[in-house]
Amino acid sequence: MKQNIRSLKFSDFEKIIEKIEEPRYRARQIYRWLWKKNVRSFHEMKNISKRCREYLINNFTITHAKISTQIKSKDGTIKFLFCLDDGSKCEGVLIPEKNRVTACISSQVGCSFACKFCATGSMKRKRNIMSYEIFDQVSLMMDKSFKEYNMGITNIVYMGMGEPLVNYQNVVDSINYLTSKEALNMSSKRITVSTVGVSKMIKKLADEKLKVNLAVSLHSANNLKRSEIMDINNSNDLGKLKDSLIYFYNKTKIKITYEYVLLNDFNDNIKDAQELIQFSKIVPSKINLIEFNNVENSKFKKSTNKKTIEFISILKKENIVVNLRRSRGEDVDAACGQLANKI
Ligand code: SF4
Repeated sequence: MKQNIRSLKFSDFEKIIEKIEEPRYRARQIYRWLWKKNVRSFHEMKNISKRCREYLINNFTITHAKISTQIKSKDGTIKFLFCLDDGSKCEGVLIPEKNRVTACISSQVGCSFACKFCATGSMKRKRNIMSYEIFDQVSLMMDKSFKEYNMGITNIVYMGMGEPLVNYQNVVDSINYLTSKEALNMSSKRITVSTVGVSKMIKKLADEKLKVNLAVSLHSANNLKRSEIMDINNSNDLGKLKDSLIYFYNKTKIKITYEYVLLNDFNDNIKDAQELIQFSKIVPSKINLIEFNNVENSKFKKSTNKKTIEFISILKKENIVVNLRRSRGEDVDAACGQLANKI
């Protein structure tokens, strides 16, 4: 059976080239065709010798994810359903704003974490998404972004389906493809990896020197409450999370972003705000407050406007940097926590 050439590392290309006795620079040429030009067939690799191309054709395949369906919200947000090689499906979202377009991408098909406020959590985890399939989500949405908004993707967030840090190597490899000069050449400052707080892996990410931003789905700074809505808190409590964030900041000097979805009468009172203030002062950080988006069969409701405003003013009095993320794409189930392959 032929192997998918996009699953190989650069060092694997070098070994192949040595084996078939082609000049060493061929490895880089092939890498560029695959990751910069994003070719669909070996025949397109014009500067590769016929002999080398034939070897590749006989031993490898090139496959790409495809867009299965897309649906546009009245606010311009577009939700995509991607079809992967084995027929698995995952979702991505393009979110246009004034001077930027953010692509939200998935790292797993389904998710095993079952956070109570998230639609993806109600789906079982089927499999990890391979690095090249993560890359494909970006490249497919990049084309759409130019067509729809006359500009390319400016920011990437790993906040779609799945927990990126438990599909660690594929996520790291995909970041390397996105940021490599030989591939998409995006700035790592424009990439954010979001996690529920897998402490061990946060430390590992800090050691990578990737310089990507880290967002933590916090949602409560109280251990009992957080455990109620996020299973991860039973094994990785706030104490462990705190240690890993100190480690991350000391290594990278990158501010942490906390994601905090405001749930009516659950985590939106004065005491919740005070606990959040304490936690957010551990290392330099900012807070994104997120409006809860309706999820079928959820017991949670969106905070009232009054409580949201009060919550923000308590944080601001303590000089906390806080942004309120208004819901985007809610009408097409493309908003935060709504991705569950429903298109
Ligand atoms: S919030 Fe993230 S980790 Fe939690 S269930 Fe949803 S996709 Fe999984």
